[in-house]
Order: sequence, then C-alpha cells, then structure tokens
Amino acid sequence: MNLSELQNGQEGVIVKVKGHGAFRMRLMEMGFVRGKFVKAIKNAPLRDPIEYQILDYNISLRRSEAKYIEIITKEEASKLDMDNYHGVITNDILKLSANKKRKTINVAFVGNPNCGKTSIFNWATGSFEHVGNYSGVTVDVKKGTFEQNGYTFNIYDLPGTYSLSAYSPEELYVREHIFNETPDIVLNVIDASNLERNLFLTTQLIDMDIKVVAALNMFDDLKRHGDYIDYDQLGTMLGIPFVPTVGSKGHGIKRLFDTIIEVYEDKNPKLRHIHINYGEEIERSIDSIEESLKGLNDLGIKMSPRYIAIKALEKDKKLLSTLESKEIYKDLLSKIRKEIERIESKCNEKSEVLIADAKYGFIAGAVKETFKESPKNRRRKTEMVDTIITHRLFGIPIFLFFMWIMFQATFSLGSYPMNWIESGVQLLGNALNSAMPDGMLKDLFIDGIIGGVGGVIVFLPNILILFFFISFMEDTGYMARAAFIMDKLMHKIGLHGKSFIPLIMGFGCNVPAIMATRTIEDRNNRILTILINPFMSCSARLPVYILIIGAFFPEHAGTVLFSMYAGGILVAIISSRLFKKYLFKGKDTPFVMELPTYRIPTMRSTLRHMWHKGEQYLKKMGGIIMIASIIIWFLGYFPRETDNAEKYEQKIVQISQHYDQLMKNASGNEKAELQKKKEEQLSSIVVKKEKERQQNSYIGRIGRWIEPALRPLGFDWKMGVSLLSGIAAKEIVVSTISVLYQANDSGNNKAQLIENMRNDTYADGTKVFTPLVALGFLVFTLIYFPCVAVIAAIKNETGSWKWALFTVVYTTSLAWFLALLIHQIGKLFI
Ligand code: GDP
Ligand code: MG
Repeated sequence: MNLSELQNGQEGVIVKVKGHGAFRMRLMEMGFVRGKFVKAIKNAPLRDPIEYQILDYNISLRRSEAKYIEIITKEEASKLDMDNYHGVITNDILKLSANKKRKTINVAFVGNPNCGKTSIFNWATGSFEHVGNYSGVTVDVKKGTFEQNGYTFNIYDLPGTYSLSAYSPEELYVREHIFNETPDIVLNVIDASNLERNLFLTTQLIDMDIKVVAALNMFDDLKRHGDYIDYDQLGTMLGIPFVPTVGSKGHGIKRLFDTIIEVYEDKNPKLRHIHINYGEEIERSIDSIEESLKGLNDLGIKMSPRYIAIKALEKDKKLLSTLESKEIYKDLLSKIRKEIERIESKCNEKSEVLIADAKYGFIAGAVKETFKESPKNRRRKTEMVDTIITHRLFGIPIFLFFMWIMFQATFSLGSYPMNWIESGVQLLGNALNSAMPDGMLKDLFIDGIIGGVGGVIVFLPNILILFFFISFMEDTGYMARAAFIMDKLMHKIGLHGKSFIPLIMGFGCNVPAIMATRTIEDRNNRILTILINPFMSCSARLPVYILIIGAFFPEHAGTVLFSMYAGGILVAIISSRLFKKYLFKGKDTPFVMELPTYRIPTMRSTLRHMWHKGEQYLKKMGGIIMIASIIIWFLGYFPRETDNAEKYEQKIVQISQHYDQLMKNASGNEKAELQKKKEEQLSSIVVKKEKERQQNSYIGRIGRWIEPALRPLGFDWKMGVSLLSGIAAKEIVVSTISVLYQANDSGNNKAQLIENMRNDTYADGTKVFTPLVALGFLVFTLIYFPCVAVIAAIKNETGSWKWALFTVVYTTSLAWFLALLIHQIGKLFI
C-alpha cells in the first residue's frame, strides 16, 4: 500500500519512494528513506496535507506526494507471512518484510518497434510471446514475472515507439505508464544497428529524470557489420548503464537484469542524471518556466520540472491541455506562450524543431565519440564532410587555416571601411574646428571626444568582420565540430572540448564568453575555463594591436596579429595546465558534445548575430569609452601652466627677433631660407613646451608615478597611462594614446598619430618606441588586467571575489613579467 492510505495512528515501514529523481531526492531529504518507520498523525479523508511522524519529528506531506511512497504495515506483513510468524509481528519482523517487499522490481520495457523487446521479455520470463513486427494500433501491455538473485521482477512489455510525444496512442500509453505506474526501472531496448534513431527515445527518457538501463540489443548484427561501439563510454556520458544483448538468442539477458538490480539499489557507478543542453535560448526559457513552476505545488510531483518545461516548449498537446483545464495554470500558460514566441522570433525556427535538432546534435556527438562504423559502410554525405573536417590528422590544420583566414580578412578587408570612417571622423573634426571659437570647449570636443571616441570607432569594421566569422561558424555548425576536434587537445591541457566554445567566444568579448561557461557541468572545469578566458584576446584589444602593428610592423601585419592571438592561446594553455595541476585536482566526468547537423545559414541570420554582438561594442563606445576619453583628456589638459612657461615665451620672442633681424638685410632667396629655419626652430620650441606641459599635467604625474615600475619593460609614462586607462576597457588604451599623441597638432588622422608615435623621443633624443618596445607593449596589452566588466563577470559566475582578485593579480603580474623578458632578452640581440 502507499503512504496516503495509512490511517490515523497507524504505523508502517517505508519500502520505496517512487517518481522522478528530483522528487525522490526531496523526499529523502525530508527523511522518507526506505526502512524507516512512519506514523500517520492526522489523516482525515479530505485532509491535505497529511501529518506524519518520522524520525521523531512531525512532517506534513501532500496527499498527492504520499501516493508515491510505498509502505508496509503490520497488518499487511502478517497477511504475507502468516505461516512464519503466527500473527506476532515485531518491529524487526516488519522491517524484514519491508526489505522482502522491496526486493520486487518493476521494470517497463521501452523501445522502438522491432528492437527486440518481446524477444528479451520471452527469454527473461521463459514465455513464448509472439515476436515479429508489431503492428501499431492495438495498445496492450504484457506483464511477466520471474526471479533472479533473490529479486522478483515484474516486467512490462510496452508497445514500441520512436518517441514519447503525445502524437500517437502508443506514445501516450507508454508515457502514461511511466508516470502513473512509476516502474522502478525503465529498460530502454536499443537496436544497436540503428543507434542514432533509437537514441532519440533515450534522450526523452533522460529528460524525464528516471532510472534507466539500456539493453544494447542486436549486438550480433552490429558485430557482423564490422562496427564497433564503446558502450562503456557511451553509458558513462549518458549516465545510463548499457548492456549488450542478443534478444533472439538470449545472450546478455542475465547480465542485463543484474545491472537492473544494481541500478535499483543505487549501486551502479554509471547511474547519473544528466541534462541535455538545448542551446542558450531554449535553456533560458527552460530556466524561466522551471522558476514559474515552483509556485505550483502539484505539477512537479509526477514529472520533473525540467521535463515539464521541455515538453511545454515542445508544445506537447497533452501537457498543454492539462494546463488549459485549470485556472491556476493561467499565468504559467501565458509565460510558456511568451517564451515560445521569444525563442521563435529570435531563432527563426519553431521551438519544437529546435529541441529536436538539439537532441539529434546531442546524439550525433555521443555516437561520433563512441561508435566506429566499419569502413565499408561509411557513405553518408554529412558524414563525409565530417570525416574530413573532424579528421584525426587534418582536422586541426583545417581549423587553423580557417582561423588564419579569419584574421587575415579582419585586417585586410577591414582596412577599406576603416579609411572611410577615418575620413568621416576627420571631416567632423575639421568642421568643428572652423565652426567653434577657440577655447577649452573646442579642445574638449576635438581632442577629447572626437580624438578619443573617433580613435576607437574606426575599428568597428574590423570588429564586425571578426564577429561575422564567429557568427558564421556558429550558425553552420562548424563551431561545434571545432569543439569536437579540439576535445582531445583540450583534454591535454586539462579541459574539455566544451570549454572550447567559450574560449573562442572570448575572441569577441570575454564577458559573454565567461557567461557561456554555464554549459560546462563540472565546476572545476568551469572555473578553469573562466580563469583562462581573459587570455583569449578579445575584440577590444584588437584596436590596440591594429594601431601598434600598423605603426611598427606594417610589413607583417597579418602574421603579427595572428601571433598575438596564438600567443594568448599559448599563455592560456600553460596557465591551464598549471591551474589544473595545483589548483584543481580531481577527476573529470565525461559528457556528450553535441554535433548539430550542418546548415547553410541565411545571410540575414548571420548578419543579425554579427550585429547583435557589434551593438554591444557601440554601446560601450557611447558609454564608458566616451566618459573615459573625457576624463583622460581632462587629466592631460590641466594644469595649463608650467613653471618654465615664461622661459619658453621668452625664447620664442628671442628667436623671432633674431631671425627678423637677419632677414632685414637678406636677399629674396636667403629670406625664404631664413623664414623656413625660423619656423622650424619655433615649432620645435612649441613641441618642447607642450611636452613639458603634458608631463606636468595630472595624467603626466600619474604616469611618472608608475613609470619606475614600467621602465624595466621599456615603457614610458604615456604608455603607462594608456595601460592604466585600459583597465576600464581595453579600447581606451587606443583612445588614450590618441589623446596623448594628438596634443601638438590639429586633425585626428591615424597616419599622423602613427607618425607622432614613431617620432616620439625621450629627452636624450632616443626613440620611445622601438619594435621591441612595441612588441612588449602588445604582449602586455594582451595579458594584463582584463577590463572591469570581465572582473565583475568572473565574480558573478564563480560566486566569489576570490577568483576575481586572483585573476587581477595573476594576469597583471604575468604581463609584467613577460614584457620584462621580452625587453631584457630582446635587448641582447637588437
Ligand atoms: P519488438 O518489436 O521490440 O518486440 O521486437 P521483437 O522482439 O518482436 O523482435 C523483432 C525481430 O528482431 C524478431 O524477428 C527477432 O527475432 C529479431 N531479434 C530480436 N533481438 C535480436 C538480436 O539481438 N539480434 C538479431 N539478429 N535479431 C533479433
Ligand atoms: Mg514486441
């Protein structure tokens, strides 16, 4: 009997708790564990919840929940064992009976038509049910009973189905059997020679969060074809033990039921509840629907909340009609509709199709990793593409080649629109220059805002091109393959293939990339992926590279750029290995990497994805970059006067007078010559004066304050200030450089900026920037403090400041150290 039938004051022993995993877990946490005594305190026919006493305290349970707890009472036990105990049932005997009763396991057979369910059923029970093609419509179930290892099995041969949606009577029947009869174990019979189609049903069982054992039937066929499957690994990934069987010959049946006992007793190491990852948008909706389910008491009992959410998004007819039948579900229903609408408008595809696609992607990934088809059978087309792209040897070179193309295009294609935007910015500057009266406000607009923001906005095309490539790779399904190819390699650095996508996303922006690590189930791996993500050179660093590379390595631009990214990856790999070794020891759990089917994305959707990412960049431009530019400009603009200002004025007057004197007595030709000389000398004084003023400005003071720390790296105070300002956002490094180097001439063009940087000298006349210094600066920019937004993201995702602070210290000291090495060692050779 079940717990809800227990009368007031009556006592019983818990035999088992049925239902889905999350539910069982919750009841167990409340103390409803098998073998425990439970007493009904208040249970009137219409009373809900019912109050029970268990482990010496009172607890109330809803009637609908109590139904899932199987118990045995003294009365029941005495009926069972009348002969043995002569009616005297002590507590010990009651416990024994409970244990005995527990040794009955109900198993439901679920599988595709013709996968061999009835054959296995017949072997197990010794009966002779008709095997052969099961033809559809009559829905019936055969029950059989047999014993093995002291356990009694009640097995149910259910009709064959390809799926468990509510579309056919069989499907609905099987589903209702699972939910209403709550078998202890579902036996998923799988036709091994048709693995992918059969596993589709398995993914639905996984969603249900129930105990499943899989019979890998037709194993003889599989062998005969010369195929190979690592079912052990497959089982580990899916959290379901797989047992190979030959139903027609009875092979493997004994072992199958031994495994069922192990799973029933929670002793099988493979058993684990996993989540199939349905992709960002669907997962978000699942979370949000699950959240709304919390308030609805009765819904989550029969089915796990995640399953309900998935079914809702699949527009499951049965579920929706249940929800429509009651007023209390009104809000939930409208929430579901809204989520479906959101997904469909965002992904341009029906939500149920997206879910099915994700399932197939999941299966393809699992199969790809564990199943090797005999070479003579390999013919199908996407597989052809996949065998090349994910080839053991060619896969990685192909991938690197794509990456190289991406960076080349980013640089070369991007230079055209970059020039147009640059001219636009310059035009705007000139227009303002002539329209506004001289003064501080004009300086603020032209040097501060246009110089700062304009210096960064020119890189928008490069960033959009990079995003275009990333979006395109995501949309075609190549990104998932890339993760797949990289899996082995990622294992070598202590990570998973799954960490790969967040890392690639890091090339766009580390903030969403760090958020994308949520798909990594294992916490250690997640944190590890988060920690090395900042070394994936984000697009904000791109402007810095482009500027510096354009100025100092114009002949090898693409290669240097590629090396920067590669260098970041290298640092990430080394860091990862170190972290793995010293910070995160422990074993990994394998899981499935999805391989979605290839798709040719529409230009529209790829462009939209690209724009979606680019938009964030523009927002940053209007916000933090603008503000930082103004602050930097302000700090560089004040104070206006220096101690030596008067001396310079005097010198200017002196020079003017000197040349004016000379020119008085000069001939025409000589006059022009003298005039030129005069101008040269004057402008050099002006530059000197401005330089001194700048060094004396607030920003100059800050820069000089940190300069001693940066001198060993070959950096001057301007670079120091630029790097300092980059803490807010890396693009600001460029806008700061623009503002700092723009100071002594009008106009804001990049060629001039580069010219100024190349010609910048220390007081003793040596050049500030050498290629070596430029390289050190690039490396420093790549590695040091990621921006504040990233630090905030790390804090959020890891849940503590610890890792955020760790990142700040680790990255900055590493950057300093590497730049030091480059400079000190490089100096020996150059
Ligand atoms: P059901 O529809 O799932 O109940 O499948 P059946 O048990 O009726 O089996 C369908 C057909 O597959 C029958 O002809 C069986 O003899 C055959 N069969 C079942 N198991 C195996 C197996 O492991 N290997 C092979 N080669 N044939 C099998
Ligand atoms: Mg059958």
